[in-house]
Amino acid sequence: MEQQKYAEVLVDINKLGTKTFSYIIPDDLKNEIKIGQSVTVPFGRRKEGLKAYVVGFTNYLEEGIKAKPIENILETTPLFSLEYLKLLEWVAEYYFCDIQAVLNTALPQKFFEKNVKKYRKPKKENIIYDFDKENDEIKLSPEQENVYKEIKRTNPKTSLIYGITGSGKTEIYFKLIEDTIKSGKNVIFLAPEIALVSQLTIRTIERFGKESVAIWHSSITEAEKYETWKKLKNNEIKILFGARSAVFAPIKNVGLIIIDEEHDQSYKQTMPNPRYNAKDVAKKLCELYNCNLVLGSATPSIESYYEAVNTNSLFTLKTRYNNAKLPCVTVVDMKEERAEKNYSLFSRTLVKNVKETIERGEQVIFLINRRGFASYTQCMECGEVIMCEKCAIPLIYHKATNSHKCHYCNSEKQITACPKCNSTALEHFGLGSEKVEETARVFFPEYRIERLDSDSLNQKNKHIEILKRFQKGEIDILIGTQMIAKGLDNKNVTLVGVINADLSFNLPDYRSSERGFSILTQVAGRSGRGDKEGKVIFQTYNSSNEFLKNAKEQDYENFYETESALRQMFNYPPYSKMIRIILSSKNEYRAQKASSEIELNLSNYLKKLSYDEATEILGPVECIIKKIKEEYRYNIIIKNQLGITGHRAVLRFLKSVKLPSDIKMVTDIDPSDIL
Ligand code: ADP
Ligand code: ZN
Ligand code: ZN
Repeated sequence: MEQQKYAEVLVDINKLGTKTFSYIIPDDLKNEIKIGQSVTVPFGRRKEGLKAYVVGFTNYLEEGIKAKPIENILETTPLFSLEYLKLLEWVAEYYFCDIQAVLNTALPQKFFEKNVKKYRKPKKENIIYDFDKENDEIKLSPEQENVYKEIKRTNPKTSLIYGITGSGKTEIYFKLIEDTIKSGKNVIFLAPEIALVSQLTIRTIERFGKESVAIWHSSITEAEKYETWKKLKNNEIKILFGARSAVFAPIKNVGLIIIDEEHDQSYKQTMPNPRYNAKDVAKKLCELYNCNLVLGSATPSIESYYEAVNTNSLFTLKTRYNNAKLPCVTVVDMKEERAEKNYSLFSRTLVKNVKETIERGEQVIFLINRRGFASYTQCMECGEVIMCEKCAIPLIYHKATNSHKCHYCNSEKQITACPKCNSTALEHFGLGSEKVEETARVFFPEYRIERLDSDSLNQKNKHIEILKRFQKGEIDILIGTQMIAKGLDNKNVTLVGVINADLSFNLPDYRSSERGFSILTQVAGRSGRGDKEGKVIFQTYNSSNEFLKNAKEQDYENFYETESALRQMFNYPPYSKMIRIILSSKNEYRAQKASSEIELNLSNYLKKLSYDEATEILGPVECIIKKIKEEYRYNIIIKNQLGITGHRAVLRFLKSVKLPSDIKMVTDIDPSDIL
């Protein structure tokens, strides 16, 4: 290849974010310089050169630009490859955002600091690495063996393992991981949340040893990330675990990506840009690196199941490992409890079963799908519900901090009197995990009780300690949000109580049945995973809900039939692709007006392309959450049946939209919710 004159380099300047600039390649570096290397470059009036990464070469400069030469190469081993850059570019294009936003997500800012000595090795290693390899020989059951062999034989680019809870999906992943490592390649393993990442990492360390395993997610410190990056660069990591952002870790030589609990919403980043879905990024990555993707779930997303059925890449596990029985689910109607004058959070059936279970030396999980103490606070004098002034949603009372928090903008306030009438007669209504914990401590003072939710993630390692103690049998009742619904594998858990099964179904969003069905089925699956038979109790005020019945029977296929028929009828994914445009402004009228104009122009544009038959535009309407951080929000939803072609047409249109500076536009491609 002919040598080029200029290098495009990426620098990270305070406040400006990550940006690219062109520099002259000095003659003495021409043969050495490579994509992905770190270099130093002069910048502005700084005395010392800035650290930068080479991302491309060119022979031309934009007019009016005077390039300076690169000073020198800092590290000769490239940090990333050309494919990696292609992946980031694809993300920027597909999710309609600038490459800067993608870079900010993918590359931790600290990597632009030159003084590497600042990253002292963490004093205490993450306690996750305290576990050791265990030498239990595992043999797959005939059903597992069959799925494993079929995946190997048919070798689809993307496979979906649909296996009921406790069917042993993880053991199949381990076999596939083993094969990949043996062939000299590496593995990325994603789980939806940090608590699950930790559990899976522990299981994997027990299987493969700790030397070549690393974790990557938002609560890993920068120092730890830096250590991991160095290892990734030297190809020392064989299995990288993480939550969604780990899909951007520049691990080399990837042979396999596993996405466990693939139905989980947290694979989609909803804020800020890039609003990416790690599943789709992983698919692209597999295309670029020519490797395979394995998705797994006991309750696959409607989209993934639909696609797997239509591409012959569905692999099913119908029984639990060792023929363990599925737990028996009882639905308790809380209206009847009230009629019998039991006004507490716990039904009599639940209380009786908790006592029996713990007296037998077994353990209990309570699921309450909302953190905090109560769901809203109301004034008993004037009826005012205490809202976040910036977001138009109720503030949630947290007892531990004696404050009200907004779960949208994170603002926190001490509120002692009604903002409208000044009365101090404030009462907390509804349910949250803190309140369930407090009530449980009153009902069961003699038992050991702990709570695990995202509030406990604030303290580093606390969730791992709680999980460890729970696994060791040192906690009788573990109370948690959806965080504990998935993945937990404790054979001594024989009772799961869902305190309010209706909570998950109640969001006004087209995915709420899927979410509700999935969380109930998943949490039920935590019970009776060993030799002992498990029980599950769903407490509900709405016992006739069809999807609750599906979850009781743990009947995914039936759920899929009903739900996918509804999706088809209303033209929701997978029967269409969706884009959501949100326009917001401090001035409500202007937000509304701008969205009406965009809607009108877009619909004309699509008509001109003769795409109007295959597209449907909803709105503009006020968003369900009408105001966030003092901005009024309107949204337009576009459903199209042309797939990526339709998406591209809409994005081409949006590129031409010019908005006044007081109006913001956010584009959410394949949105996971429409709140
Ligand atoms: P899933 O991920 O499908 O819910 P897991 O992989 O966690 O299920 O398996 C459920 C339980 O059965 C785990 O405790 C696991 O160790 C055990 N198990 C699964 N397959 C085997 C096997 N082939 N041999 C021994 N134990 C197994
Ligand atoms: Zn708020
Ligand atoms: Zn009041």
